[in-house]
Amino acid sequence: MRSRLIQRNLRADPPLALRGEGIFLHDSNGRTIIDGSGGAAVACLGHGHPRVLEAMAAQMAKLTYAHTALYSCESAEALADLVLEGEPGGLAQMYLCSSGSEAVEAALKLARQHFVEIGQPQRRHFIARRQSYHGNTLGALAAGGNMMRRALYQPILSDAFHHVSPCYAYRERAAGEDEAEYVARLAAELEAEFQRLGPDSVAAFVAEPVVGATLGCVTALPGYFAAMRAVCDRHGALLVFDEVMCGMGRTGTLHAWEQEGVAPDIQVVAKGLGGGYQPIGGFLANRRVMDPIRDGSGGFMHGHTYQAHPMAAAAALAVQQVIREEKLLDNVQAMGALLEARLVDRLGNHRHVGDIRGRGLFWAAEFVADRASKAPFDPALRLNDRIKQEAYARGLACYPMAGTIDGRRGDHVLLAPPYIATEADIEAIVTRFGDAVDAALANLP
Ligand code: PLP
Repeated sequence: MRSRLIQRNLRADPPLALRGEGIFLHDSNGRTIIDGSGGAAVACLGHGHPRVLEAMAAQMAKLTYAHTALYSCESAEALADLVLEGEPGGLAQMYLCSSGSEAVEAALKLARQHFVEIGQPQRRHFIARRQSYHGNTLGALAAGGNMMRRALYQPILSDAFHHVSPCYAYRERAAGEDEAEYVARLAAELEAEFQRLGPDSVAAFVAEPVVGATLGCVTALPGYFAAMRAVCDRHGALLVFDEVMCGMGRTGTLHAWEQEGVAPDIQVVAKGLGGGYQPIGGFLANRRVMDPIRDGSGGFMHGHTYQAHPMAAAAALAVQQVIREEKLLDNVQAMGALLEARLVDRLGNHRHVGDIRGRGLFWAAEFVADRASKAPFDPALRLNDRIKQEAYARGLACYPMAGTIDGRRGDHVLLAPPYIATEADIEAIVTRFGDAVDAALANLP
């Protein structure tokens, strides 16, 4: 052990990432690795995009910090203006902080404050979904339904958070149930949870439009989010979308909810907002949520020292400008279709690949011991970590997820190439990934 840093693994030091260039990372093992998942679906422009670096340098020369108790700053104002241009889905104001978890915490507190200000202080409950991930700070962890991540901290998590089933057709649609019946069952389950808690005591329903870090790129069935919205509307609760992982272009539209035809009241964003060039997250909120607060107490009862940080906002502004100017959403759609097709060619008939799913440049495979029964592998085998290691050995970084199936560890591996990926990059990613899967399975004890 050399490192004094508290790493994920306290017994082994990871290699050092030394340099990033486009879709490649160069590391202290002397390896050049395709960053096939952009870390955890973060590096949407790849590494070292000159336009972003220039914007950061220019901002650094002008202003690195000013406290929001006295000032706003140009880069944060411009970022909010750009992201909210045309008020997509009625979203009209933006809050900026430094991470996805912070942004989820802020969104939860905003929902709570909204109801206090409109004279409904009894609304203290939040309903989220099992097998979701909303972050690792205590409020966000309580909102999340990933039992493995929650277990250690369960005794100190708030009792204001409750969980219903996710829309996970691969495992949870019953035999003989068609898609519409499954969606109706999920809506009935949400309705029942409102009734159990007292419908006027629920502040918000929280969900990821495309589930990322727990189940691996699970899209909802058509009509699912409209049905969930209808339940929230019936009871006056807010709809909060966590687009920390799936948002800001990752699924081929700027916001994942655009493909559901349902806009949220509050939308949380982070990873693709700044593409990893700076730590940044935030939420977008509509006038229904914000106006009563502006007209009531006049201030959001929340804040952080580094909120709306000039450097972070300047980097994110440049990232968002590049996505527009280079028409990268078109590339996400085209390369996403290619990635899907190539993954299905290579792994679609594999006897241990249960499901390949995703949208845009956001894809995952779920591995199973047996395709017919969908039985997962023994968690002790840690198949997803083995796939990660075999992929690294072949020059590819992919993202193994600590997903849970029925409360047990499952094997999901995620690919989220940068929006700048070319056809050749996609071919290389799928070749290396397919070979890594074969090798990991061949070498199981
Ligand atoms: N919400 C979702 C959907 C996420 O995927 C994540 C991180 O993976 C978070 C929240 C937390 O973001 P952060 O790790 O930046 O705190």
